[in-house]
Amino acid sequence: MRIGQGFDIHRFSDDPTRPLMLGGVAIEGAPGLEGHSDADVVTHALIDALLGAGGCGDIGELFPDTDASIRGIASMVMLEAAVAKIAAAGFRAVNADITIIAETPKLGSHKVSIAQSLTEALGAPVSVKATTMERLGPIGAREGMAALCVALVE
Ligand code: MG
Repeated sequence: MRIGQGFDIHRFSDDPTRPLMLGGVAIEGAPGLEGHSDADVVTHALIDALLGAGGCGDIGELFPDTDASIRGIASMVMLEAAVAKIAAAGFRAVNADITIIAETPKLGSHKVSIAQSLTEALGAPVSVKATTMERLGPIGAREGMAALCVALVE
């Protein structure tokens, strides 16, 4: 068994047409996040936790943001590639636990669907929690959102 941790943060986009994707779920009525991919901050934290647990580098090595061919890529596709990468190293996920840090939008009603989406994609239990920054710092000022993840592999 090995453990890995992941962290990611993205700022909100000024583009009103950009969807907010969290764990592969489109969250209606909320501003999207800026990024080279679909900017799914939750899935990115999970990917880095898995890669870290498998000793397989990080998301930036697997998907460089200088690679124009992956512009706008769905993070769930990136997750599939990360799962394949740790499988090639002899590991499979046991479980993952995520904390989303966001002042807005309120995620209480979305946690279950995000967890279900990621559990299905990972083939292992993923739990999702959400908290705010109590209005402190850039996340507290609603400039963006972040996610933390720990993952166990065997
Ligand atoms: Mg990211």
